Amino acid sequence: MQVLCNALILEGRELEVSRGTLVLREGRIERIFRGFPPKKGSCIDLKHGLVLPPFVNSHTHVGDSPLREEYLGKTQEEVVGPRGVKFRIEELPRRKVSEAIRETLARMLEAGTLAHCDFREGGVAGVKRLRRLSTPPLRSVILGRPDGSPQEVLKCSDGLGFPSLEAMEKFRGLIPPEGKFLSVHVSETREAEEGSVREFGRGEVQRALELNPSFLVHGTWASEEDYKLLARSRVPIVFCPRSNHLLGCGSPPISRALDLGVRFFLGTDNVMVTEPDMFSELSFAWALVRKENSRAGEEEARRLLAAATVEPASFFRLSWGSLEEGAEATFMVLSDVFWDARRAVATVVNRASRGDFRCLYAKGRRIIRRL
Ligand SMILES: [Zn+2]
Repeated sequence: MQVLCNALILEGRELEVSRGTLVLREGRIERIFRGFPPKKGSCIDLKHGLVLPPFVNSHTHVGDSPLREEYLGKTQEEVVGPRGVKFRIEELPRRKVSEAIRETLARMLEAGTLAHCDFREGGVAGVKRLRRLSTPPLRSVILGRPDGSPQEVLKCSDGLGFPSLEAMEKFRGLIPPEGKFLSVHVSETREAEEGSVREFGRGEVQRALELNPSFLVHGTWASEEDYKLLARSRVPIVFCPRSNHLLGCGSPPISRALDLGVRFFLGTDNVMVTEPDMFSELSFAWALVRKENSRAGEEEARRLLAAATVEPASFFRLSWGSLEEGAEATFMVLSDVFWDARRAVATVVNRASRGDFRCLYAKGRRIIRRL
């Protein structure tokens, strides 16, 4: 048994703030209570540290890790389009690519990200390579890109991630096996959205929903009508605001998604463009929300933090999630810097950074520690 006391805890699905003690036993949270344990000497003092669920980065492409900053001076099309610089990766020595991916995965863990969902290029071989490079406790949800038969990719992956609707439409009618995910990039650029409306009479989100996706990525230029459809469908969308900005694609309408009750998560997209750091993604997303709605407050901040933690943890069926009695004892601890219990959620979203990350517990074991 371990007793962790003197903590500020973001509890449950709503990330409610409480100050108190966590009792861990056999990898689970046995109890959470207010105040100190009766025998103070027997506890690990977290010194007002903030305890919260680890991050889930819902959209990455870790495969282009060796090409950091190669986007400079180039448009989105020139970076990630069908003939984009990201495909230079195929010319690099395999060992160099693997080392860069390994380093990215380690940096994610050291900044509190315990799971990510990756759109993985390179068919079956690409999926298997990332599976080998990703080691516990990190959980990589890998969506492969079918080179030929989707069934072969589905056997070794967690699902399929399509670069575009055109690519996904080739497999119209495909029903993924139970427990596998289907996803696609939609409405990332103005050109893609306007082209869809011109050619098909409807936007990319609407067309994507006809293909039974598990979730969508981007939606930067989708119309309000399409967001209403998304809200009704309960299909989540992953916003990647920093990537959209750095690639000159625009701002995803996070504020609109909040207003309409759309389910959404946050992701960092291509490693060649952004550091897969969820602290940075959260503060950037928060700035966008406040730009659109200067009355956005604690409740909106809470929904952003949930979109980076408990909501995707539940959607991707991870073994951990919200902090409550009986749940897996998997969480991160941030140093006490400036936590005011009334404002802790907004402070994490707006100000916390990887420098505040102190340690990560997985199934009750402290695994990554910074002094
Ligand atoms: Zn992407």
